[in-house]
Amino acid sequence: MSQAAIKSDASPPTIQSEFSRFEAFAKVLLDAYVLLDTQGRVLKANQMLAQLTGQTTRQLLKVENIDQILNFAVDGTKLGFAELLQYDSTIRIDEVSGNVVGQDAPLNLILSVFPFFEPETRNKLGIFVMIRDVTAETQLQDQYKNKAIQSITDPLTTLFTRAYFEEYLNGQVARIESLPQSDHYPVSLVMCDIDFFKKINDGFGHQAGDYVLKIVARIMKQTFRKTDVCCRYGGEEFLVILPAATAENAGIAANKLRNALQNEVIIYEDRHIPLTMSCGVAMIQFGKETYLETMARADLALYECKHNGRNLVSLHDGTKIIITPREG
Ligand code: GH3
Ligand code: MG
Ligand code: MG
Repeated sequence: MSQAAIKSDASPPTIQSEFSRFEAFAKVLLDAYVLLDTQGRVLKANQMLAQLTGQTTRQLLKVENIDQILNFAVDGTKLGFAELLQYDSTIRIDEVSGNVVGQDAPLNLILSVFPFFEPETRNKLGIFVMIRDVTAETQLQDQYKNKAIQSITDPLTTLFTRAYFEEYLNGQVARIESLPQSDHYPVSLVMCDIDFFKKINDGFGHQAGDYVLKIVARIMKQTFRKTDVCCRYGGEEFLVILPAATAENAGIAANKLRNALQNEVIIYEDRHIPLTMSCGVAMIQFGKETYLETMARADLALYECKHNGRNLVSLHDGTKIIITPREG
């Protein structure tokens, strides 16, 4: 009988013996790690985990169950040791919130879980958990994200800015024009302008005017689809990009907005502010015009509304302007 066979007869594989094959590799890991048996006892832990948990590696090795020192959660749902032990294959879990017991600040972590099995019986021996602390990166990313969102958001209305409108529309047009003609889909623009807004400012004050602008923005967000891009183009002018909408469909959406605004009861400092809006609609003619020319056509349609009594929606179909019936 060979020496190896004698040895394997004498000592059945343990998680430590199974792990020993990876030990040299684990030593060079830059992430925190812990080797746990099926009870959650800490069998091995590195210096990074000691730093993360504020313990010494010696203290860690005395831990009866990892849950006593470190708790994980995903989307507010606890991910304890018992749950980690359930995985039968290697898994990576992103966006894990980690809590070191006794510490307040939560950590942003990425976990990788590697289960170990007894080779013959396939009984689980324990798990190796690699823990990447991405708290600092996540905070930095959030800061950048917030800054980026701020830079494209109008502070008063929280709608997109004119700069974003132009950037988005440019991108959309370039993308669609690069597609074969058969894959083109319609994109329409709605240019909206509050009727007699100056009178609101003059009659109720500038703050009342700002209040009205916020209400208009809220109703615009409620009326248009999530995929439509609502922008504050300037003072009391708004532009909406409607992907996949023909001029007729964009006109229907604009009429919904017009109706909703006319029916909204706006009270500011106990006074009722009547409000209406006019909208001009035009669909982009890809390859035939620039989006600035489409905007100019939407603007022409808008001014047709203004000259025909306001509180209207009209469409520029490429050659003529059609005022839509109010009940639409
Ligand atoms: P029309 O029906 O022809 O559109 O008339 P109007 O009075 O709405 O048009 P006009 O463009 O003459 O007036 C727009 C007014 O919007 C003038 C400006 O003082 C006001 N305004 C622009 N930005 C803001 C803002 O941020 N807050 C407030 N309260 N008023 C603003
Ligand atoms: Mg105006
Ligand atoms: Mg106006």
